[in-house]
Amino acid sequence: MPDFTPAAPPALPALLPQAARPHAVVIGSGFGGLAAAIRLGARGYRVTVLERLAEPGGRARVHRECGFTFDAGPTIVTAPFLLEELWALCGRRMADDIDLRALDPFYRIRFDDGATFTYSGDQAAMRAQIAAFNPGDLAGYERFMALSAETCRIGFEQLGHTPFGHWTDMAKVAPGLARLQAWRSVYRTAAAHFRDERLRTVFSFHPLLIGGNPFAASGIYALISHLEQRWGVHWAMGGTGSLIQGLVRLIEGQGGRLRCEAEVARITLAGRRATGVQLADGETITADVVVSNADAAWTYGKLLPNLPRRRWTDAKLARARYSMSLFVWYFGTRRRYDSVGHHTILLGPRYRGLLRDIFTRKHLAEDCSLYLHRPTATDPSMAPPGCDAFYVLSPVPHLGSGLDWAQQAEPYRQMIARRLHETLLPGFEQEVVTSRLATPQHFRDDLLAVHGAAFGLEPVLTQSAWFRPHNRSEEVERLYLVGAGTHPGAGIPGVISSAKVLDSVVPHASALA
Ligand SMILES: Cc1cc2nc3c(=O)[nH]c(=O)nc-3n(C[C@H](O)[C@H](O)[C@H](O)COP(=O)(O)OP(=O)(O)OC[C@H]3O[C@@H](n4cnc5c(N)ncnc54)[C@H](O)[C@@H]3O)c2cc1C
Repeated sequence: MPDFTPAAPPALPALLPQAARPHAVVIGSGFGGLAAAIRLGARGYRVTVLERLAEPGGRARVHRECGFTFDAGPTIVTAPFLLEELWALCGRRMADDIDLRALDPFYRIRFDDGATFTYSGDQAAMRAQIAAFNPGDLAGYERFMALSAETCRIGFEQLGHTPFGHWTDMAKVAPGLARLQAWRSVYRTAAAHFRDERLRTVFSFHPLLIGGNPFAASGIYALISHLEQRWGVHWAMGGTGSLIQGLVRLIEGQGGRLRCEAEVARITLAGRRATGVQLADGETITADVVVSNADAAWTYGKLLPNLPRRRWTDAKLARARYSMSLFVWYFGTRRRYDSVGHHTILLGPRYRGLLRDIFTRKHLAEDCSLYLHRPTATDPSMAPPGCDAFYVLSPVPHLGSGLDWAQQAEPYRQMIARRLHETLLPGFEQEVVTSRLATPQHFRDDLLAVHGAAFGLEPVLTQSAWFRPHNRSEEVERLYLVGAGTHPGAGIPGVISSAKVLDSVVPHASALA
């Protein structure tokens, strides 16, 4: 396991009263923003987190309806040591606040013909599953997992927390990337190890969890297979929202402050140096450092209105590739479906063709592949007694598609309902007692995501590491970026790692006091 013992901060800031400490403003309270706030608090800053929505969490906020609890976004918690490290920075133990349970199996992948691959961390069970699909692929599986482990060591443990502030940082890692054949897509990496097309799908779909197309995302993302096997797939009892609440409590314990319904309209500047923020209602807040957890493309495109940008110009932002979006249907049923596991991936008839429709053609297909979340399989507290909470998620094109989701949402929901009825949940619609939708327009309008992309910039090699918006802004001094749109990228481990990079690029508060 990587070393996550935090270095003890110098004594000076601890001696300063809160009001005398340098002030850090964090724009946005997603996992990345909250992790950044904790790191800055631990480095001696007085921290204010500004969130435009009524509650914290961003993509990980919570909807509560009729006794059901719906986590809006992330449900699969991997690399828990990254979270534990945040608790440790505050002198606490995560286990005292959060009941994190390892899931077994991780998930079930159901193919269109009904065949199901049960994916777990148990090696013997995994080999048995592979043998059931194609015994000839067992040797390829061993080689794939060895490659995944090596990729994880370089791509996650070494590069995930490295600030790629200079092109020479990229040059230094180029030999390692070349050795891992990082230019190959994840699908091609899987195809080089498995002959069975279904197993190629099982071992290549992971980039979709962070907004990437398996046929375009760098083979580096094959690391996710090892990451899951090595540290497990977890569920936080009470939902992912309990992690958000726990992080907020850590910030408050450090003397930091979260202000909701506080939308930042622009970052204020003196020349090319950040001096604070102005809120949409006109209030100005001064700061010694500003960290933006808002969408990276939004930060550059909208929050620095009068700044001539050198790198992240409007033209470059317009040319950039954005991740897919998502259609999410949250629903509660008045009965339980105990045959349905916690995480199910329900594949449709097409893999490559569907992904081409979503990522390249920006076309809303008539078929779909779904992820079905049933937290009540593990945690009955997510619904009233005897009931089930669900969400079903379908990857769809971002708003570059030109689709009007106000028109499209209901027919699309009905198509998904038919699919669920025909596969895992026969007749379930009569049992639904609460229902809510999120469409790409919601990602644009509520979360201020450019094109309503659910995961920020698409994770392709040409938009990774140095090529991604840097954690220390290239445009403005004392401005830093965290979250899915910056390095290393989307997903809870990615955005928490982006905050960890701040330790290398933000001056310690004692240097500014
Ligand atoms: C449906 C869904 C399922 C997912 N499932 C998983 C999963 O199972 N596991 C996993 O690891 N990852 C998953 N992800 C990805 C993961 O949730 C995200 O990558 C991650 O949570 C993004 O965190 P972030 O730090 O980038 O901030 P965000 O969550 O994007 O939050 C940014 C915050 O900034 C606020 N903000 C924006 N602009 C302003 C402004 N001008 N002023 C003030 N506030 C502002 C927004 O309101 C928002 O609250 C999922 C994502 C989605 C959408």
